[in-house]
Amino acid sequence: MEQKIIYLDNNATTPMAQEVVDAISEANMLFGNASSMHGFGREAAFAIEQSREKIAALIECNPDEVVFTSGASEANNTVFNIFRDAIDLGSKKNRIVTTVIEHPSITETVKFLRKRGYRIDEVPVDKTGRVELETLATYLDEDVALVSVMTGNNEIGTIQPIEEITKMAHAVGAFMHTDATQAIGKIPVLMKTWGVDYMSLSGHKFYGPKGIGVLAVKKKVPFEAFFHGGHQEGGKRAGTYNTPAIVGIGVAAELALQDLETERARLWHLREMLRKGIEERIPNVVVNGNQEHCLPGTLDISFPSAEGESILLYLDMEGIMVSTGSACASGSLEPSYVLLAAGVDIELAHGSIRFSFGRYNTEDEVLHVLEKLPPIIKRLRGMSTR
Ligand code: PMP
Repeated sequence: MEQKIIYLDNNATTPMAQEVVDAISEANMLFGNASSMHGFGREAAFAIEQSREKIAALIECNPDEVVFTSGASEANNTVFNIFRDAIDLGSKKNRIVTTVIEHPSITETVKFLRKRGYRIDEVPVDKTGRVELETLATYLDEDVALVSVMTGNNEIGTIQPIEEITKMAHAVGAFMHTDATQAIGKIPVLMKTWGVDYMSLSGHKFYGPKGIGVLAVKKKVPFEAFFHGGHQEGGKRAGTYNTPAIVGIGVAAELALQDLETERARLWHLREMLRKGIEERIPNVVVNGNQEHCLPGTLDISFPSAEGESILLYLDMEGIMVSTGSACASGSLEPSYVLLAAGVDIELAHGSIRFSFGRYNTEDEVLHVLEKLPPIIKRLRGMSTR
């Protein structure tokens, strides 16, 4: 019998939607340089502007506030660079406030900047990974230039109160950035309603192509290009337009907006079905993150006395692909810094698995995981010396 393949690592990346593949394939023919004034150039530019409108509709901003980047890592780096530059130029607002559970494209930028003497504070989170507003308040003062807090966490799925945090940032005259990479297409992401000044997105997390993302920038907020060169994107990001990828992310945005409410409910249903099934079948498990404020497709669970990496490999042998949420991608077996920051015991952090659902997962797949997972945990626990 052919082995079932079940992909439950959608927070790492998603497959492209067929509609996206088709649109990209057609857009590959739009080879004209979108900055050229002739017909081929205008054709490409038109496709790009349509895509910009689709992104704007998805995140509730104006099309001319959308800057295409190579992804969310570049978008995040661009934002920090804007404020680094302002500080270099002598701004009295010379402190940045972020959190301990941001994506490495921020936490590593923080380390890099700190080494060079910049003042950056990382606000701790509670046991569920939420930023406590009273704690955040103690970090905010008139010297803060930027507050950067992710909308939803990639490992444990915890959603932050971005609207409230934005108000607090603005109250001390700071600008607000949110990395909405994991939230997009799963919960409403509302730039205007929330009032945020900068927002990062990545195409490959919502069924679009890799290597394309967005930095949405509110009008009249500070901006400094990270890439200097041509006048593309109104001078905000130099480099010849990647027309097919931009068309692809636009179609992905259109689908995300159209299916938002149904997907949100469906992903939560699958996640809850798996959570309850695991809790019924496997003793002594701990669900990580915040169960009330959680991205609908994310389930992070610790299995005490079983190693996350071993669980991952045994599941992989069964054709089930998940993640440990740890830094194993870099070759180290360090437990997840996100779980540790949320105060999860180091043993539990070592035994954690992230299941992340997407548009193409089904109930049948959850049932299959519920059949294959319990014997794996039993076996690993039997081998454990702990
Ligand atoms: N931010 C978050 C929250 C993410 O999950 C990711 C991808 N893992 C990124 C940023 C980086 O996105 P990209 O791959 O587009 O650089």
